[in-house]
Amino acid sequence: MTATGPLLRLDRVVRRFGGLVAVNDVSFEITPGEVKGLIGPNGAGKSTTFDLITGVRPPTSGEIRFRGEDVTHRPAHTRSPMGMARTFQIVRLFRGLSVLENVQLGLHPKFPDGLWPSLLRYGALRRQEQRSRERAMELLAFVGLADRAAHAIEELTLGQLRLVDIARALAAEPSLLMLDEPAAGLNDAETRNLGEMLALLKKRGVTMLLVEHDIDFIMNACDSIVVMDRGAKIADGTPAEVSRNPEVIAAYFGR
Ligand code: ADP
Ligand code: MG
Repeated sequence: MTATGPLLRLDRVVRRFGGLVAVNDVSFEITPGEVKGLIGPNGAGKSTTFDLITGVRPPTSGEIRFRGEDVTHRPAHTRSPMGMARTFQIVRLFRGLSVLENVQLGLHPKFPDGLWPSLLRYGALRRQEQRSRERAMELLAFVGLADRAAHAIEELTLGQLRLVDIARALAAEPSLLMLDEPAAGLNDAETRNLGEMLALLKKRGVTMLLVEHDIDFIMNACDSIVVMDRGAKIADGTPAEVSRNPEVIAAYFGR
């Protein structure tokens, strides 16, 4: 990545499912430090775009570059060591493990042997485990859940689980943090809390891509927003720009 180049770049990306064009010739960039939103009505192609970026599936055509490297056809598991981390709309944390242990699992890419051997062995690996616990505690403190570290995952609210998932994703110190509908299912207080957390991350220079349904939330959280409708990008600009774009208004309210 050059100092001025984009962190992520989609160039004329297309994804078909049989005869259906889920993502139709979409291009956009995310610059380092930017918080980018991706919005659009149901079926617009947001989740498919997210999957193409993370490598869950390949595009039919077009190119995706991350840190200047062509990752278009690189499998998902090779993208996280490159600095991509994501959260899930349906939070996928491990029941039976504590909150702290779930965050420790996110440290995995930083430990060459994987976390499990380090949890089980002694000596040098014991010290590695100590460092991993300390780091996971710092991350839990950052999301305001230090007092829940020893709790079972099952004891947390949905809002708390989303914060644990963010802490887990941050553990890998990603250069791009991708959040899939982080506000889904949260009450007003939890949504505000999440918004404050993201603002704090932004201040620390974390680059983010947020896919979100909640328009108010995304308007507040993002520097710029890509709007999709029926597979195509219909707008790309600041929250103020996209919110007065006639095509965007029509896509949301005109049908
Ligand atoms: P959004 O997340 O914006 O609601 P999606 O990316 O999930 O939109 O879907 C875009 C379009 O692609 C929809 O018409 C959807 O039905 C279709 N689609 C998504 N995933 C698949 C799939 N695995 N197989 C076939 N069609 C799909
Ligand atoms: Mg979706």
